[in-house]
Amino acid sequence: MAARSFGYYDNWRDEVLVCPRCGWRGKFEEGAVEYYEALMDCSCPSCDEGPMLAVVHYPSPEQSRAHWDQLTEAEKQSVIRREKWEADFKASSLKLADQLPELPGGRLRMIWDFEAREGGGHQTVIKCGDQAVWRESAIYEGYERFAEIVSILKSKYGKRLLDVEPTPESYYYLYGDRLWTPDAVNRIRSELAEGRGKRARKGAGKEGGDKQERREGTREHRKSNGMRCQVLISD
Ligand SMILES: [Zn+2]
Repeated sequence: MAARSFGYYDNWRDEVLVCPRCGWRGKFEEGAVEYYEALMDCSCPSCDEGPMLAVVHYPSPEQSRAHWDQLTEAEKQSVIRREKWEADFKASSLKLADQLPELPGGRLRMIWDFEAREGGGHQTVIKCGDQAVWRESAIYEGYERFAEIVSILKSKYGKRLLDVEPTPESYYYLYGDRLWTPDAVNRIRSELAEGRGKRARKGAGKEGGDKQERREGTREHRKSNGMRCQVLISD
């Protein structure tokens, strides 16, 4: 029997769940409940590795708005905070390469930094030397956003972009709780350093020569370790 699936505002607190293996009967909160990012689930508390009996999905702000009268004051405040965050993010987030400034010179090494924002919250700041190239609301477990932003930076600065290095201050938000996220970020960074990436791979015919050139560029950079966003090779 498949686990039952409830929306957060369904009547899951009162429904009696039945374990198909041992016959245990009880309500969701009497079972073995585990909490995840987007849902919680309930397994049979009597069986060894008891079967999952039900899943409750957390609500979106829209679902919460539709059940506003059922929310406690604290839940309402939390929905309002989340809506405000989403509106801020929508307004401040980088969407197009054209929103980025022109940067003079050659190869670019950028920094992915994390700062408190006036008026509350935190922001991701992309820096090139002393210049803030972009600021936007920081996302918890923002490794997917890291990939999106690097891709927009690449479409603006092309092969000149050699690295986007997260500062230690940014790790907590960027990586979150998932163990593999630093690897995902490092893979994107090493593709940048080697001039690989989706676009570069397409030009197969020319690749040999290009690759060599890029490797030399990388070596040149390593010699100048610590100089961020300096012009190292003129294009
Ligand atoms: Zn059971």
